[in-house]
Amino acid sequence: MGTEISVQLWHDEPAAGKGAVEAVFAEMERINRLMSTYIDDSHISLINREAADRAVPAGDELYDLIVRSLDISILTHGAFDITYDSVGQHYDFRQKQRPDPETLEQELTHIDYRLIETYPSTKSVHFLQQGVRINLGGIAKGYAVERGVGILRDLGIRHAIVTAGGDSRLLGDRRGQPWMVGVRDPRKEDKVAIRMPLENEAISTSGDYERYFEQDGKRYHHIIQPATGEPANGIHSATIVGPDAVMTDALSTSVFVMGVDQGLRLISTLPDYEGIVIDAEGKLFYSDGLQPPEQNL
Ligand code: ADP
Ligand code: MG
Repeated sequence: MGTEISVQLWHDEPAAGKGAVEAVFAEMERINRLMSTYIDDSHISLINREAADRAVPAGDELYDLIVRSLDISILTHGAFDITYDSVGQHYDFRQKQRPDPETLEQELTHIDYRLIETYPSTKSVHFLQQGVRINLGGIAKGYAVERGVGILRDLGIRHAIVTAGGDSRLLGDRRGQPWMVGVRDPRKEDKVAIRMPLENEAISTSGDYERYFEQDGKRYHHIIQPATGEPANGIHSATIVGPDAVMTDALSTSVFVMGVDQGLRLISTLPDYEGIVIDAEGKLFYSDGLQPPEQNL
């Protein structure tokens, strides 16, 4: 997944604990093989190659995640859009590459989640236009940590935390105490902006520091504003807390795109979800339902 995965858990038997960690890693690997656009023979790559020509069966798991992504596109008025990848594929953050203006203009015409048609009876997807591509990078890690915790729960584990990059899913508490989860300072790698006590919840942060390069004084990062095809400007990070990591992951990407006002207004309509946005000046904004967290502890 191109990111760091970590698993922490309690188990009375070290060997069984180790086995449980391995089961989570194996699941992550399986999901990556299914959903990575960087793997030529992944199922998502097959869909990207063929779905403009025919309806391609996606299989239960991929189909459901695509449908959930489309639901979130509707909820966010298109801020979250898995078709961002027609433009997104032309960014290479390690090589400091970005699409040239002609490519951007051309590929932008293929960004629109309404160009994806889904067929529930066959669990197939069809693209209404050549050039459409999908990428689940804004939701798959949340799905992976949710699955990881599901595996641990099935093994009888009651206290764990599974993290993939900016997405964490907590199982239970930290044996009698809440987990203390930090949101990092978007401009200082080893500094925590705030810490929050959490139990049994998911927390996702999207930031402009995960994958980026700088050119001519401008930061080009990996969260794309679907309306323009360019990196979304305005804030440094968006953090969402709630019961389901699939949602917190997709919503953190969405709120990043939407910005402070629109983003937090959306979160206020979702009773189970709360958010923290750090703007371009480093100022923190909280959704209404959030207790003031402890600062810089
Ligand atoms: P990370 O944990 O890597 O920071 P995020 O949850 O912030 O991930 O999602 C960023 C990823 O989402 C990008 O790397 C890209 O794959 C995908 N993405 C970028 N822009 C959008 C968008 N507007 N809608 C949906 N997915 C996006
Ligand atoms: Mg996300």
